[in-house]
Amino acid sequence: MDLPLNYLVLILIAALNLLLGAIIVLKGGVKRENIIFAILLGFVALWVLGLALFGLSDNRAIVTIAAHIFYATASFIPAGIFYFSLTFPSRKLQIHIIREALIVILTAVLLYITLAPQVLIKDVAIYSWGNEVLLGSSYYLYTFIHVLITAWAIINLLLQLKRKELQHIVKIQLKYVLFGIGIAYLFGAIFNLLLPLLGNYKLVWLGPYFLILMAISVTYAIIKHHLLDVRLIATEIFSALIMIVFFVNLLSSDNFSEFILNLMLFVFVVIFSVLLIRGTLREIRELRRLSQAKSEFVSIASHQLRTPLTAIKGFISMIKEGSGTKENRKDWLNKAYISNERLIRIVNDLLNISRIERGKIKYAFKDTDLITLIDDVVEEFQVHIENKNVSLLWEKPEFPIPRVYADPEKLIQVFTNLIDNALKYTDKGRVSIKLTYLKDLKRIRIVVQDTGIGMSKDDLKNIFEIFSRGEGGQKFDTEGTGLGLYVAKEIVKAHRGRMWAESDGLDKGSKFIVELPVQ
Ligand code: ADP
Repeated sequence: MDLPLNYLVLILIAALNLLLGAIIVLKGGVKRENIIFAILLGFVALWVLGLALFGLSDNRAIVTIAAHIFYATASFIPAGIFYFSLTFPSRKLQIHIIREALIVILTAVLLYITLAPQVLIKDVAIYSWGNEVLLGSSYYLYTFIHVLITAWAIINLLLQLKRKELQHIVKIQLKYVLFGIGIAYLFGAIFNLLLPLLGNYKLVWLGPYFLILMAISVTYAIIKHHLLDVRLIATEIFSALIMIVFFVNLLSSDNFSEFILNLMLFVFVVIFSVLLIRGTLREIRELRRLSQAKSEFVSIASHQLRTPLTAIKGFISMIKEGSGTKENRKDWLNKAYISNERLIRIVNDLLNISRIERGKIKYAFKDTDLITLIDDVVEEFQVHIENKNVSLLWEKPEFPIPRVYADPEKLIQVFTNLIDNALKYTDKGRVSIKLTYLKDLKRIRIVVQDTGIGMSKDDLKNIFEIFSRGEGGQKFDTEGTGLGLYVAKEIVKAHRGRMWAESDGLDKGSKFIVELPVQ
């Protein structure tokens, strides 16, 4: 006898259900909801096996017994889903006598209808295309109760989803569960309840295929603690289904050349699915990283803004209350002014960063003479140099150098930041700025070197990151923001240049090197 493949695959599906049931309890832990779901999968497996036996046999007695088995075991499925919906995620089962009695009675009715002779199963018919159950009119009641309990379970899960206090991750778990159960039951109901009700028995083998959805997505929801996205599981399930279809197609090849063709198709589908899943996974990870970076940015930025604002508020309120002498008040006003300047600097940096991130920073490039540009910056510092123990040395090249194509305003910002840092992080000694023309490389190199606090290896790795501050830097100057170098490096990159830092270690001074290409 030629065994129909679509029914043979059901044996695999039953085995898969049992396997997933075992995985849920072994990996998800011996918890109430896991055990309930494993038992549910057990009934599903029995149902599917009954259906397989029903479809594969042409012995009347066996077909009749198999029909009773699969309808009877299917009677437990709604109650299984129902109790799962009451306990997932990790909930105590609150017993309500009336509800429990109702579920038990309804399940008993289902069992009675299916097992009692001549009630639901009037007879079986064996045809060349497959077997069929001749259903009694109680089948309407059977379908009604089946759908009723399952709909109740789905409503329970939907109500869970509305609970505000649930963690985000648990909500995602719930969505997986709802997706799996919803889709699986919908298709199961179409092929195994509705179509037979309308007299079409040819597709009953198809329902269990969709149950794999439920089994896989719920197992996934239970055992994966880091659920990523419903989209991912949807992609995975979609891929799994396609692979199953092509696998079945492969097994049903009629001859060798068709087998080879189907094998190629199958391999292609597997490769495509793996790529698809990987792509989705990567995209989701990237989105997650971005959203995390964004919230980190907002939290650090607001923290940065709070410090000067609190200082300004303090000074102004003391002045407003009229405390202190006239001298004190003048001093406070001055301090408030300095804090305000700092605030403006931070806001400017933040604006720059947001422009950089959006790729919206505008550059006005023109032929620029770097020597005059640095002259101006250094002169500014010479006038205002507060740190008397530090000398500022500007070593210009002896020969004329080519001009660079640059945005002078932006480069002023870069060198101001570097010299400002060098002076800020140096207690005593020297800060030197040296410009050289690397003729062979067609580059101009500017080195800002100091004899200050230096940097550790770790610092060197991180200081160009947004908001990143070095170990020594934080101790030495508590007001820094860790934004300056990030912005500077972005500006240098936009000039097709390079920028990096060197230091022999803490207290050994630092060197910041900028290289810009000449035209
Ligand atoms: P900020 O100076 O506001 O912290 P920057 O982005 O300009 O922000 O610098 C980042 C970090 O790099 C500083 O916190 C400091 O630890 C380190 N750094 C920068 N310049 C120097 C330098 N000249 N010497 C030692 N450390 C420095």
